[in-house]
Amino acid sequence: DAQAKQQVLQQAKAADVKFIRMWFTDILGTLKSFALTVEELEDALDGGLGFDGSSITGYNDIEESDMIAMPDPSTFQVFPWSPKENAVARMFCDVQTPDGDPYVGDPRHVLRRALERATEMGFDNFFVGPELEFFYFKDSNGTEPLDYGGYFDLTTLDAATSLRRETVLALQQFGIHVEYSHHEVAHSQHEIDLRFDDAMTMADKVMTYKTVVKEIATRHGVYATFMPKPLQNQNGSGMHTHQSLFQGDKNAFFDGDDQYFLSDTAKSFIAGQLRHARELSIIFAQNVNSYKRLVPGYEAPVYIAWSRKNRSALVRVPGFHPGQEKSTRMELRCPDPSANIYLTMAALLHAGLEGIEKGYELPEPMERNLYNLTHEEREKMGIESLPGSLGEAIEEAEKSELLYKALGEHVYNRLLNVKREEWDEYRMQVTPYELEKYLPIL
Ligand code: GLN
Ligand code: MG
Ligand code: MG
Ligand code: MG
Repeated sequence: DAQAKQQVLQQAKAADVKFIRMWFTDILGTLKSFALTVEELEDALDGGLGFDGSSITGYNDIEESDMIAMPDPSTFQVFPWSPKENAVARMFCDVQTPDGDPYVGDPRHVLRRALERATEMGFDNFFVGPELEFFYFKDSNGTEPLDYGGYFDLTTLDAATSLRRETVLALQQFGIHVEYSHHEVAHSQHEIDLRFDDAMTMADKVMTYKTVVKEIATRHGVYATFMPKPLQNQNGSGMHTHQSLFQGDKNAFFDGDDQYFLSDTAKSFIAGQLRHARELSIIFAQNVNSYKRLVPGYEAPVYIAWSRKNRSALVRVPGFHPGQEKSTRMELRCPDPSANIYLTMAALLHAGLEGIEKGYELPEPMERNLYNLTHEEREKMGIESLPGSLGEAIEEAEKSELLYKALGEHVYNRLLNVKREEWDEYRMQVTPYELEKYLPIL
């Protein structure tokens, strides 16, 4: 609205902003950006800015590639590392067609559609708290760690303490509320946790978070990566995602009388995410490398079950305390931080809502360590696994009505095409593993 626009213009003037970066994402969640001079800002706020969408992954072909980036004034922020004079700011954009309609290939639009479905079903807020893990390496040519520390290690082992501190400070300057930061289990692995927020705000925050982590690392001459599994024999990086639905001030997941303090709504929501996990894998674990993380023994989920304490399960329901209505939530442990955050939140929400709409039943929790069960035991208990590879995830996605509904025809088709190509490229590789294993004996 007019007031928000005026506010942006005033803020820009007060902070001596000369350039504004316009941010949006392609269908893989890669951040795209172009810079605008401050003289263009007022026009851009009114009518958006045209750009060529033909070279953006998953957008349109050359024949109809004219796109409009419409900045969202509520996301205007000066970069914390910007010079004080001639400062640089950024805004997230919605992508539109030249007629001013939302563009069906824009991941933000896909998330907005999912949120509309939640509203129609009577939920005011989808709250999300993602825990993004990442690695610091000496540079991007290898995996030489900065430290050999482990979970919660401090002292000299954790060489990255000051990097993390600076990152947290920069995030706070961006208006992002940070709750915890700590060294993670693997060498040189870290986690910074954000306070939960509504899904759209949080998705934007996650894009900012990734940029800030990488930027601060670069400024210190090191490399930060959100690759899911860079080190073969150590934990990979996850993006555990805490979720709840609110109706006004009321947590729709909470029921003080239930043995788990979970409402029927929560149970069906969780059941929806469990039931549809295989077909949505292509979204929350979208790369070949994502499936190297989802293997037994590294605190990442493999088997489709829920639990209260057990970290080998796909869904965990942390903390059962009556009176903790606000914090009653589920934690889904399969997403990794290389995922497109907008599509991930959209797909998760649709899966949960599907469960609510159709009244799915939640199976009993599984408190045993699932990594230790044999194949036969799991079969007897009816416990399924997540896809073991991107190829399997593609096959599941191809059969999925829910995914088609969640992404819309355009993103669904484009994404599958991109992923099929990627999988073909990968499966044609002859790897050192094969040469070592087979060449000497065959
Ligand atoms: N890194 C683990 C994963 O891949 C999670 C470890 C943890 O947070 N306890 O999901
Ligand atoms: Mg954590
Ligand atoms: Mg963690
Ligand atoms: Mg967690």
